Amino acid sequence: MPLELPEAVSIREVGPRDGLQNEPPVATEDKIALIDALSRTGLRRIEAVSFVHPKAVPQMGDAAEVWAGITKAPGVRYSALVPNLVGARRALAAGCTELEVVISASETHNRANVNRTVEESLADLARIVALAHEHGATCEVVVSTAWGCPYEGDLPVASVTAVARRALEVGVDSVVYGDTTGMATPRRVVELVEASRFLDDRPLGLHFHDTRGTGLANVLAALQLGVTRFDASVGGLGGCPYAPGASGNIATEELVHMLEDMGVATGVDLEALLQVAAMAERLAGRTLPSGVLRAGPRTRLTPLPG
Ligand code: MG
Repeated sequence: MPLELPEAVSIREVGPRDGLQNEPPVATEDKIALIDALSRTGLRRIEAVSFVHPKAVPQMGDAAEVWAGITKAPGVRYSALVPNLVGARRALAAGCTELEVVISASETHNRANVNRTVEESLADLARIVALAHEHGATCEVVVSTAWGCPYEGDLPVASVTAVARRALEVGVDSVVYGDTTGMATPRRVVELVEASRFLDDRPLGLHFHDTRGTGLANVLAALQLGVTRFDASVGGLGGCPYAPGASGNIATEELVHMLEDMGVATGVDLEALLQVAAMAERLAGRTLPSGVLRAGPRTRLTPLPG
């Protein structure tokens, strides 16, 4: 039976932000070079920076410099994560036009991360959305721990969709579900996406981690339900803050490699992306978990021995 798949998807590259935030610090000029190189691969969306407090996340302390230093390629959209209203003001002052705000579906995780209740975070989100819209910018909510919390374990699907519903009520332009802990499996992806039909035409994106090896299987399950927006990180940059040494985000080149072979267009030049993955590996100073970076595309030939 042939798979029913969308003709094309939109990949958001999150390596420069989500990836590098979970790696040892990288020099500002190297971040700029990484983003500029990604801009030349055919990727159309790049999460570039995070305007968090430098004391909280030193890796992102140079967000304004990075933002100012990158060459904004035509046709590529760059986004910034903001943790609160102060971060949103900084991002908008720097000229960002696409903001993202993370709210955890788990009360315990949200409190541990931002020392606020989910309700307080939603109230803050309302203010950030209003400010973004005043400036002609968009604001997306990323509902994190959507498939489970490191402290509470599995969360009811209804508590995840409740956060997304409330975010829609305060006017967010799009929703992403984040598998922060790598706990998603295909059947759990189907459950949550099916329960999110209330989003209607609001874009739904999915952010998978490959912590337990289910990242691309989760993508395939979501594709069959018509989801066309996915986050991924070049080389698989980043990690899992709750499982030291474990892999984090799915690798962009693995995603592109699988999708293009299935006839799902990504717009990305895989060979160009692999060059950037090699660069990401140099910047991270460690072997990144991407299988396609190690082995090359499936059609890469091996010289005959002898
Ligand atoms: Mg991530």
